[in-house]
Amino acid sequence: MPPAAHDVTDASALTGYGVNELDRLAEKRDDGAFVTALAAAPGARHLVFTGDVPLLRQRGDELDPYFLPHELAGLGAVRETTLLGRDAQGGVFGSLLEAPAAESGEGATGIVAMDLRTLAVQGLLPPPLLGALAQAKSLLYWHARHRFCSACGAPSVLASAGWRRDCPNCKAAHFPRTDPVVIMLAVAGERCLLGRQRRFPPGMYSALAGFLEPGETMESAVRREIAEEAGIEIGRVHYLATQPWPFPSSLMIGCLAEAATTDLRVDEVELEDARWFSRTEARAMLAGEHPQGLSAPQPLAIAHHILKFWVEQTPG
Ligand SMILES: [Zn+2]
Repeated sequence: MPPAAHDVTDASALTGYGVNELDRLAEKRDDGAFVTALAAAPGARHLVFTGDVPLLRQRGDELDPYFLPHELAGLGAVRETTLLGRDAQGGVFGSLLEAPAAESGEGATGIVAMDLRTLAVQGLLPPPLLGALAQAKSLLYWHARHRFCSACGAPSVLASAGWRRDCPNCKAAHFPRTDPVVIMLAVAGERCLLGRQRRFPPGMYSALAGFLEPGETMESAVRREIAEEAGIEIGRVHYLATQPWPFPSSLMIGCLAEAATTDLRVDEVELEDARWFSRTEARAMLAGEHPQGLSAPQPLAIAHHILKFWVEQTPG
């Protein structure tokens, strides 16, 4: 067993979806007899999705995302089942229902469909369950949208307990993808750069972010994105933490970026606004006490932790 997330002190574990205590059993995925036995053994449970949304059972005041195999059978036809891993109780699988939400088990008594962002923002599940659901969502999303071989167009089939799709026609093997995104706080002495997109809640500012491109290093992506969106040059880049971001399957790579210039030229297509904030202002935004009502992202988001890390650093 790999060490559980709570045994180590990664900054990444502070982020929403950043804790996942499942042993992924990567070395067992091609052992069909093992996977079949694990699925039939006591303790086997399924995280169940209808479209992009998990189903949960309401148990009193609590929500439980795990369904036993016979309960899964009662929810409707299953399109794909993947092995997520194993915990102390037994095997954990991710299953995608065939029918969309309206026709699936969502309407059954005591069963609710609730998106993963709401579950995290409202703190409705413990962190290890959010992490396992994020793993399931990204993997099942990939299966749902990669049903045909991207080389020859023939229908592909699930393989390796859900961690590969094989093309029976041209024999190509396809693997689940994760899309890296750089998210960075540019800092210049006692000031940091935050911006806001038009879709943000009113008054909220966050770190700038963008997809890493093919053939690009993390540092180059940070420098390119900040130059594009804010027109400033970046010197050194420091890695802080990562966050799995299951919307649908990104990895947020959180960085501090040392600004070499400070004159802003904001890309008004990408951003509604971007400006420098003092450490005092940033601290007030994190605490929800900014005099103009400006705010920072919630602890769910890695941007919150990047900003907090910088705010709490010893000045100078
Ligand atoms: Zn093919």
